[in-house]
Formats: sequence, C-alpha cells, structure tokens
Amino acid sequence: MALVTTKEMLRKAQKEGYAVGAFNANNMEIIQAIIETAEEEGAPVILQASQGAIKYAGLDYIVAMVRVAAEVASVPVALHLDHGTDYYQNIKCLRAGFTSLMYDGSKLPFAENVVNTKKVTEMAHACNIPVEAEIGQIGKMGTSDEPGVALERVKETMADPEEAAEFVKQTEIDSLAAAVGTIHGCRTPFAKLDIPRIEKIRDLTGVPLVLHGASGANDEEVKKGIAAGISKVNIDTRIRIAFVKKIREFLPLHPNEIDPRKVLKPAKEAAKEIIRDRMRVCGCSGKA
Ligand SMILES: [Zn+2]
Repeated sequence: MALVTTKEMLRKAQKEGYAVGAFNANNMEIIQAIIETAEEEGAPVILQASQGAIKYAGLDYIVAMVRVAAEVASVPVALHLDHGTDYYQNIKCLRAGFTSLMYDGSKLPFAENVVNTKKVTEMAHACNIPVEAEIGQIGKMGTSDEPGVALERVKETMADPEEAAEFVKQTEIDSLAAAVGTIHGCRTPFAKLDIPRIEKIRDLTGVPLVLHGASGANDEEVKKGIAAGISKVNIDTRIRIAFVKKIREFLPLHPNEIDPRKVLKPAKEAAKEIIRDRMRVCGCSGKA
C-alpha cells in the first residue's frame, strides 16, 4: 500500500498500549530487512532516515526505496525524518515524500526550540504531515564513555514534565521525544528509564511519546516504558551491531568470496532477527 503517516499509527498504538518500532533505513539491505520482517510479523512499521543516512544514500534514493518497499507490503509503512535539526531539511523531506517529520531543537534554548518547532508544525500540518520534536536532551555515547558516567550525565538533561507540557501546547506537535533515561549509541543495554517521569509527561501532554536510544534499554525497561506511555520505539544501534558482526564473521570464513550479495545476505538475515525480536518486545506484531 502507499506510505501512511505516523499520526493514526501512533494514536492507535497509544490507545491499545503497544509501541510501533521505528528502524533506521541506512541502505537497501536494511530497508528490505525491516519491510520483510514487518510483513512476516503483521506489524505496522516506521522506517526513518537521519540526516546522516540522507547524506550517505541520497534523499531521493531513500524515498524511492522505501516507497517501493511500502507499495509491495500489506502492512502500514511510514517514512519518518529522524532528528532533522534544520527547518529546511524538514521542508526538503516533506517535498520528497516523507510522511512524518522530526524537528530536533533540543540543543537550543527552550524559547528558540518552541519557535523553530512551531514553524515546522505549521508547514507540515498544512500538508497533513505529523511532526515529532524533542525536549530535554537525549545524549550520545562517546566511544570511551563508561556506562556509569554516561548514566550520571543523562540525569542532568532529562525532560522536565511541566516544560514538556508547555512545549507541546505551544508547538502543537503530534508526538514527543522526551529525554527519559536512554542514550543514543549504547552497545549494551544498561539504560534505566525514569518511569514516573514518563507517566507524568504522558498525563500532562496527552501526545504519543517516543523512546530514542532504545537499543540501550533491556526488554524489561522497554516494556515498562511502553506501559507508562511510550508509543514509538527507535532502534538503530542493535541493527548496526548485528549487521556488521555478521559481515565480520563471514569474511574470514570465506576469504575468496568477492560477491557483495553473498556477503550481505547473512547480514540482512541477522538484521531481521533483531527487528523481529524488537517488534515482539514492542507488542506491535499482529497490530497491522
Ligand atoms: Zn534519536
């Protein structure tokens, strides 16, 4: 079917108490892995592209690949911009065919984040496209970061529930990425979610909440987060780890292999296993 927006998808998830998995679309094999798994699981799915992925693969390539993937699929598929830090990046994605946007002004002062986010929602809503935005700061793991140090840092940049409520009211965003304990790029799941904070943000804002950096949270944490109001769970790092690990394992065993298709096929299968597992943890299997 044609691409759908995340609006209905996330409202349904919010109402029924599960989360939709949002997976980063970085290349053709990963896009195929996401769509095939969503089909097999009967799950609605969000493919998202970061500015880095757009730079790597090209905006038009990403839209074309995801559009074709969605058209052959029988489950609802949305194409979302992940962490668009620029107003014009959002416009370009809207025009190219994205069906969901994100403006990330989390590094800006609150007032500036509000003004910029509102500009994006006004533009996107004119075309019936929903917008996600960020409050608090969801950090990123440095290569030499110790988990304990990272967790301490995370506490300082969590979203303030009252501020989140004001932010949603003023910007009229459709979903909220609030910093609630996770960090981007964690290679092991050590993050601890601040559940009372999630519940408070849920009660004060009413919009579906988005968990970024969910690769770094274990199953129990993710499930508790969903029960508290998370409706979209972003997964990238776990797929990266599985995909590249498989390539690393394959190459020494097949030193004479020169066919990229044979190298990438097992990597795609490994990505599918991760995606399937995350969909089941999110509770979105069978919800298409
Ligand atoms: Zn993120």
